[in-house]
Amino acid sequence: MSVITRFAPSPTGRLHIGSVRTALFSWLYARHHNGKFLLRIEDTDQARSTPEATALILNSMEWLGLTPDEPPIFQSARTKKYRAVADRLVADGKAYHCECTPERLGNLRMDQQRAGMKPKYDLHCRDLNVKASLDVPTVIRFKNPTAGEVVVDDLVQGRVVYQNSELDDLIIIRSNGLPTYNFSVVVDEIEMGVTHVIRGDDHLNNTPRQINLFHALNEKLPQFGHVPLILTQSGRKVSKREDALSVLDYRDRGYLPEAVLNFLVRLGWSHGDQEIFTVSEMIQLFDVASINRSPASQDDKKLEWINHQHMTTGDPSRILTLAEQFFLEHGIDVHIAGPSLSDVFEVQKSRAKTLVEFSDKSKYFYQDLDGYDEAAAAKHLTSESSALLKQLISRLSELSEWTAAAIHGVFKDVVASNEVSFGALAQPVRVALTGGTVSPGIDVTVELMGRDETLERLENARRWIGRKDNS
Ligand code: GLU
Repeated sequence: MSVITRFAPSPTGRLHIGSVRTALFSWLYARHHNGKFLLRIEDTDQARSTPEATALILNSMEWLGLTPDEPPIFQSARTKKYRAVADRLVADGKAYHCECTPERLGNLRMDQQRAGMKPKYDLHCRDLNVKASLDVPTVIRFKNPTAGEVVVDDLVQGRVVYQNSELDDLIIIRSNGLPTYNFSVVVDEIEMGVTHVIRGDDHLNNTPRQINLFHALNEKLPQFGHVPLILTQSGRKVSKREDALSVLDYRDRGYLPEAVLNFLVRLGWSHGDQEIFTVSEMIQLFDVASINRSPASQDDKKLEWINHQHMTTGDPSRILTLAEQFFLEHGIDVHIAGPSLSDVFEVQKSRAKTLVEFSDKSKYFYQDLDGYDEAAAAKHLTSESSALLKQLISRLSELSEWTAAAIHGVFKDVVASNEVSFGALAQPVRVALTGGTVSPGIDVTVELMGRDETLERLENARRWIGRKDNS
C-alpha cells in the first residue's frame, strides 16, 4: 500500500511555523516513501475562514516547495458529501437526530458543573428516533460506544488509551447543515485514501472520537502521528497571532526556503548530530520514529546560522536566482547596471547571513547613493581627504589593468607619497562609494564598482566637500 499523507490547515489566520512543521513532516514522510502528499483546506467554519488566508497558505506552501501532488481539496465544497455520509450513519442506527435546544443543553451543563461533574451530553435524544424536520432544527449526533476503550497507537506518542465513557455523543452535523471538524476529517481521510495522519498533538484528544467514527463507517484506520508543539524562545506556545512567526515573514526577512525547512525539521527531529540538511537529504533520512516527543523551542539565532550555512554551501546558481528575485522585489534590478551579482556574492557571502543582509550590504553597487551617512561624512569627507581623492582619481583613471591587485598598488602609492595611513585614504573612498564606512576590502570594492562609476562617485564626493567648505 502506498503512503498517502496530508496537510489540513484551517484558513483562519496566517500560516505559522508550527503548522508548517507538521506539513513538512507529512511531506517528507510521503516523499521518503515515494507516496503522495495532499492538501486539504478545512474551511467549513464560514465565519472565520477567509480567501486571503487560503491564498496565504497556498503561497507559503509554494514558496517552501511543499507542493501537493494533487489540487487542494476544499471542505466547503463538500457539504453534501458529509451530509450523505451522516444520513447513512443515521439510517444504519449509528447516529441520530437530536432536537435538544441550546437552553436545555445550557441548563444541563450548569447542573453538571454544579454537581462537580464533567459536562457531557446526557444522551436524551439517543433513542427517541427524532426525525429531521424543517420546523424544529436538529443536529446529528454520533452514537459513540458507551463502554470499552479506544487505543491510539501513535507513531510519535506511543500507546495512548481513552475510555469511551469519557467521550460524548458528538455532534457530526450542526443545525446549519455543516459538519463538525471530527466528522469532516474522517470522511475526507477515507475518501482521500490517507494512510498516515501526521498533525499537531493538540489534536490527540480528538483521535479516539475519529477512530470510533472510522469503525462505525467500517473503514480501516490510518496511522496517526501527533507531533509536539513548538514553543517560542520564551517558552510560550507558538500562536497564530504571533506575527513574526508566519512563514512569509521569514521570506521577507531574507531566509531561504531550504533553510527554513532545515530549521523546522531540526525542531524536534534529529539524525545523529547533523545540523545542516539539503532538502534531498531530509527526504532520504526522515523517519517518524525519530521525532522527539517533547515540545521543541524555536531560536532565531539558530535559524540565522542555518541560513548562512545554506547561503554559503548551497548550489550557487540557485542562491543567486533567489537573491536576484529578492533584490528585484526590493526595487533593485541587478541587470541594469553594476557588477555581476555572482561576483558581489562571492565577496559578500561570508558576511551576509540572510538575503536582507546581502541586499543591504550590496545595494550601493546597483543604486545611486542617496546621500552619505552623516557621521561618516563628517569624519572622512574633509578637505585633506579631498586632496588625496584628487590624486587617487588621476592615478585610477590611468590604470591599465582594473584588478583588485593593481588598485591596491595605487592606494599604497598614494598613501606612501602623502605619508598617511592606509585608512586615511580607504575610509573616505568607502564613504564616497558606499555612503558609509562598511564594505568588503576597499580594493575589491573599487574593482567591483568599475572604473567609470568609481571615478564618478569620487568626483561627487569632492564636489560635496567643496560645497561644504564653501558654506
Ligand atoms: N484543521 C486542523 C487545524 O488546522 C488540522 C486538522 C488535522 O490535521 O486533522 O488545526
